[in-house]
Amino acid sequence: MSRFWSDINRVISPYIPGEQPKNEKYIKLNTNENPYPPSPQVVKAIEKVLNDSLRLYPDPTCEDLRLAIAEYYDLKKEQVHVGNGSDELLAFSFLAFFNPNGLPILMPDITYSFYKVYTSLFKINCEKIPLEDDFSIRPELFYKKNGGVVIANPNAPTGMFLPLEDITGILEHNPDQVVIVDEAYIDFGGISAVKLIGDYPNLLVIKTLSKSRSLAGLRVGYALGQKELIEGIDRIKNSINSYTLDRLALAGANAAIKDDAYFQEVRRRIIMTRERVSNTMGEIGFKVLPSKANFIFVTHPLIPAGELFQKLRENGVLVRYFKEPRIDNFLRVSIGSDQEMDSFISILKSILHQML
Ligand code: PMP
Repeated sequence: MSRFWSDINRVISPYIPGEQPKNEKYIKLNTNENPYPPSPQVVKAIEKVLNDSLRLYPDPTCEDLRLAIAEYYDLKKEQVHVGNGSDELLAFSFLAFFNPNGLPILMPDITYSFYKVYTSLFKINCEKIPLEDDFSIRPELFYKKNGGVVIANPNAPTGMFLPLEDITGILEHNPDQVVIVDEAYIDFGGISAVKLIGDYPNLLVIKTLSKSRSLAGLRVGYALGQKELIEGIDRIKNSINSYTLDRLALAGANAAIKDDAYFQEVRRRIIMTRERVSNTMGEIGFKVLPSKANFIFVTHPLIPAGELFQKLRENGVLVRYFKEPRIDNFLRVSIGSDQEMDSFISILKSILHQML
């Protein structure tokens, strides 16, 4: 082992993202990307930057994009921070609001696995709150003394949505702690907590353009909250990197936020496809958790998920398999285009036919 590694380097187990295959031979349903391209306005905006201004540093305050997002949500630009994907904003927020070696922060025991990586890296104590038998979150379990709360809503990888009154309960019972609500998947049928920001100074909502705006490749996320919280994230960001978003990302994200008609159409289509595929999967013997995300979490009573994952892969379909307690018999399937999902279902049916 290298003698140059720091203590941190020795103890962390980094997050491993879903596979990004080098070729396009797979039907790729493993990382919850959007099957539809971004708004044509995004491409135009990026082309303009390419022609005009790549020579120059981007605006470190990201003012125009923050204004566009603020306007969209009826907030002030001081209530918006933008960053290089929501992963970055989560990391900055954990650094800004959760104390090392302090009271544990609370998170559901099954949730986005990057949270645990950040707590280990930043030496933040953490307590995992068990989910109910049906994988739902029980808000009362988050009412105990803690150093902060983080919840993905809809949760990942279950896709299940926590109603707004439950989020409100958690906010009410934790007035002195920051409650982070990660809404990466909220645009696929959930109800956003953004409207609670005015009433709850402890609420930080984090969102991304990777899913519902088809911009995973551009890396843009944003955090919304009262001014004091946003200033906290600004402080961390400005202590690490002045330019987290490049000119292409700033311009592309701005155009995406402004093209609301396109956004509404894309998410409507994905929700429709999700409902159709969920029904079909139910009909062919799968249990499908109720999803408000652009993926479904499914299990088959007779077929081990690990084997099904391999069979799908051999047949050209990539889905996500988590080898973790309680969910190691589930597969997470991203919602692709109708055509992709039809091919997926027909491949799945023929695998079931062989295996059963
Ligand atoms: N939060 C959750 C719950 C996610 O599943 C993801 C995507 N893996 C992210 C945040 C990060 O998204 P991005 O960094 O692309 O904005």
